Amino acid sequence: MANGSPPERTLRSVSELAAAGLLDESPELEAVARRYAVAVPPAMRALIAEAGDAIGRQFLPDAAELAAASHERADPIGDEAFSPVKGLVHRYPDRALLKPLLACPVYCRFCFRREKVGRGEAMLDEAEIAAALAWIGGHFGIREVILSGGDCLLLSARRLGGLLARIAAIPHVELLRIHSRLPLADPKRVTPALANALGAVEKPLWLVVHANHAAEFTPEGIAALDALRRAGLPLLGQSVLLRGVNDSAGALADLFAAMLRARVKPYYLHQLDAAPGTERFRVPIAQGQRLLAELRGRISGMAWPTYVLDIPGGHGKVPIGPNYLEGETVRDPWGRTHPLP
Ligand SMILES: *Cc1c(COP(=O)(O)O)cnc(C)c1O
Ligand code: SF4
Repeated sequence: MANGSPPERTLRSVSELAAAGLLDESPELEAVARRYAVAVPPAMRALIAEAGDAIGRQFLPDAAELAAASHERADPIGDEAFSPVKGLVHRYPDRALLKPLLACPVYCRFCFRREKVGRGEAMLDEAEIAAALAWIGGHFGIREVILSGGDCLLLSARRLGGLLARIAAIPHVELLRIHSRLPLADPKRVTPALANALGAVEKPLWLVVHANHAAEFTPEGIAALDALRRAGLPLLGQSVLLRGVNDSAGALADLFAAMLRARVKPYYLHQLDAAPGTERFRVPIAQGQRLLAELRGRISGMAWPTYVLDIPGGHGKVPIGPNYLEGETVRDPWGRTHPLP
């Protein structure tokens, strides 16, 4: 590393990234950082040095972020239109998504909520939390509450434990789910107190971990996941298909294999949402389908995620993976067709 000192702090500005030798300062990058939050925690800083561009590209600001393409939207998946009370998104009859916190341990340059996360107004206040929980309590069809990005694992163990207990106390809520990038991005934050707080929740609490490259599964990150799994949380993985990060069959095979080794079941591979200034990450859907078709038959069936598109405008997520039925025939994993019985 540039200055040889052990990485310890999260880097939060262009000048700090430049001082760490990760990029060269420029007025364009300063402008990017004024518009979109920057954070590179110690573990990811070390990984950028070791594993290179596939990691750095995800977290280091780039001048291309200032150019928004015409189809890109500030709210690509329509969160606002489906928000009955502040901090809550309700798009499916049985699930409600709660965003108690709009801060993350790391800021992904392709983030679908980049116009919202890391921009000051960080945490719902007590009255707003109470209003969101009252809404859930009054909607008896809600079976599952999903805590999503921002990253609620940034909250203190006491605060998060208290929030989860209040959600679990709602009689018709059967399941809780957390989506988080924290265990792999900033594993030191998974303390025994945090694992205990999550393990103390009295209803099933699932954890969906965000990871896009096999190298993100560092020994420290895997240990953090282990601590959460031992506390009782089943682990799923979610990834975004990203140009220059994981847009090859080999990179995806390695990523999903790394997940299974860490006892994480690959759940979703997301098509990139059209958030402003993210076009350099786009992989066309047809290419994503070809990549998944290449993996079929070559990796464990357990390693195969559902490739999904969150339909722009808030119309929900749908599977967009390769199709194996063609009229009266079916295609096998090696591309040969066979008549359907
Ligand atoms: C993605 C999402 C969910 C969860 O969808 P699953 O397909 O169950 O993972 C729920 N609510 C909202 C608003 C979402 O965007
Ligand atoms: S962790 Fe999730 S919410 Fe946070 S910046 Fe990355 S993609 Fe966005």
